[in-house]
Amino acid sequence: MIGRRTVNLTVCPFAMCLGRFKMFSKQQPKLQSYSKRTYSRFKYINPTLLNGRFIKEKKIIQNFDFFLILDFEATCEKNGTLNPQEIIEFPCLKMNSKTLEIESHFHQYVMPELNPVLTPFCVELTGILQEMLVGQPNFVTCMELFEEWMAKENLLHSKFALVTCGDWDLKVMFPAQCKLSGIAVPSYMKQWINIKKTYGEATGRYGHSLMAMLKSFNLSHVGRLHSGIGLRLVHVCWNVNS
Ligand code: AMP
Ligand code: MG
Repeated sequence: MIGRRTVNLTVCPFAMCLGRFKMFSKQQPKLQSYSKRTYSRFKYINPTLLNGRFIKEKKIIQNFDFFLILDFEATCEKNGTLNPQEIIEFPCLKMNSKTLEIESHFHQYVMPELNPVLTPFCVELTGILQEMLVGQPNFVTCMELFEEWMAKENLLHSKFALVTCGDWDLKVMFPAQCKLSGIAVPSYMKQWINIKKTYGEATGRYGHSLMAMLKSFNLSHVGRLHSGIGLRLVHVCWNVNS
């Protein structure tokens, strides 16, 4: 179904990998991505061809109703020297795990409080201009808006898994931002699927970067790297092409 779409989207590797896995939704107390062991209980079917190589196809049974795909942007300086960083863009796509359709999205710019003036490097990297943050809520209010969106989308009573590209967003940035803002990390933010690991399980090769993963699926990148707007664009494009 993905292959029929005319757009090559950032999210496609997510869909292509996620659709192949049976996941287990047991909450675990530690901050962590689902472990390799979590993925090891697959039922093998016939080998199939992927990118010219045979891989063992795995039975597709999803224990999650939705995937929430997240990609934070944060304040930064050249060579990663800014400390602490603060979240400035909070985008999230809601993907139906059965249909792989993107049903809704949340997108919010966030005004940083410790370093409210973006560095030229950060503006250049993320495409987020200082004026785009004027009048935007702080992180605590952003989380309230996010939870309102989750409630509106009936996510709080459904089985969902957060999905990120790498562990940085939920292992490093989100808990650090919660600490800075004086709020607890919500339990649903303590476990996630790292698509780089999932890609590795699906293909036998570790996904070093989004661009490398896209390339191996012969998908071109749409949108802009280091920009959460890209996720929103995915939702818009998906609907236009549906
Ligand atoms: P990304 O997930 O690649 O969009 O990056 C997330 C955040 O990591 C960015 O918003 C920046 O704060 C930081 N970051 C990414 N790449 C760099 C870089 N080359 N130098 C400094 N910070 C970076
Ligand atoms: Mg990111």
